[in-house]
Amino acid sequence: MRRVFRVLSVLMCAGLLTSTVMAQTSAAGLAQPHRWAVVLHGGAGVIERKSMSKETDAAYRAALKAALQAAADVLEKGGSSLDAVEAAIKLMEDDPLFNAGKGAVFTAEGKNELDSAIMDGATLKAGAVAGVTRTRHPISLARAVMEKSPHVMLIGAGADQFAATTGLEQEGPSYFFTERRWQSLIKELKKEGAPLPERPAGVPPAPVGGVAEIEPPNAHKYGTVGVVALDRNGNIAAGTSTGGTQAKRWNRVGDSPIIGSGTYASNESCAVSATGTGEYFIRLTVARTICSLVQYKGMKLQAAVDEVIQKELTALKGDGGVIAITPDGQLAWSFNTPGMYRARVMEGGAAQFGIYGDEK
Ligand code: ASP
Repeated sequence: MRRVFRVLSVLMCAGLLTSTVMAQTSAAGLAQPHRWAVVLHGGAGVIERKSMSKETDAAYRAALKAALQAAADVLEKGGSSLDAVEAAIKLMEDDPLFNAGKGAVFTAEGKNELDSAIMDGATLKAGAVAGVTRTRHPISLARAVMEKSPHVMLIGAGADQFAATTGLEQEGPSYFFTERRWQSLIKELKKEGAPLPERPAGVPPAPVGGVAEIEPPNAHKYGTVGVVALDRNGNIAAGTSTGGTQAKRWNRVGDSPIIGSGTYASNESCAVSATGTGEYFIRLTVARTICSLVQYKGMKLQAAVDEVIQKELTALKGDGGVIAITPDGQLAWSFNTPGMYRARVMEGGAAQFGIYGDEK
């Protein structure tokens, strides 16, 4: 708050504030009706304190902080919730810690197939892509589908072709490769007794003696990322990006790019991004169901996310969690797994970070 006053008085002295802007400034010094806010996740699953090293714990917290900051920077400058969602997700797509963009999990055939979606709560416009293999930032491609095509969802090679026409960065398949995800795939396929794919072309040779575990052994398949944001204009947006589930087959697509399941936003209710075993989230249309509870039943956001995750998802024996936000500034998360990488902040408040279930 004090910073806002400082900035305002500096601008006033410099004669930079127009009368219109000043007219919007209330007696309390607030220049806008909405305080911005953002909530994000970096995947849910069997993520437990007892099997997490201090270094890995710190690495994830630093990555969550950087992503939260990226979104906050956009919103603090008066940027849109869509821009904030895209900025934070791009950062996490570039971070090999997360199962999105670089560092995505592998299919049983040893490929990275990426899914993503974005939705604008103000207009109900949405864009989604599935099975993308060459686009560095699938979230930006989802946004391009929303803004530059007449469609909502594109898949596979066609989606990558469209990405190239919009000038989005294209990469060879080896760009998305990380040794730990590869080793995790090989381990899982061996356990299943399934055929092992060849090591992809163009990647460094396998390290002698294996790779150090950077997170709990069974956590290698987690790390989908999602962001929901509220901007100063009162508009909300949601976005999700993932490599899907490890060792997926037959061009499997999960909930993340399915509008209403893994991703949804409407200014009439809420914005949601999900993470977990997508098959359950699709069957429960998790994101839209949460927003319907808010819109038609008048439920508070936390009650609505708990209803769907703790009751419906759990009853179906599904696993995972969600983050959510409303235009009136309610923030919520809920998960039924031991952990979920998560963070949130509201303008003027302290940022909150969590990994394990016992953190608030
Ligand atoms: N929900 C994603 C999917 O099923 C995976 C995850 O969130 O971990 O593709």
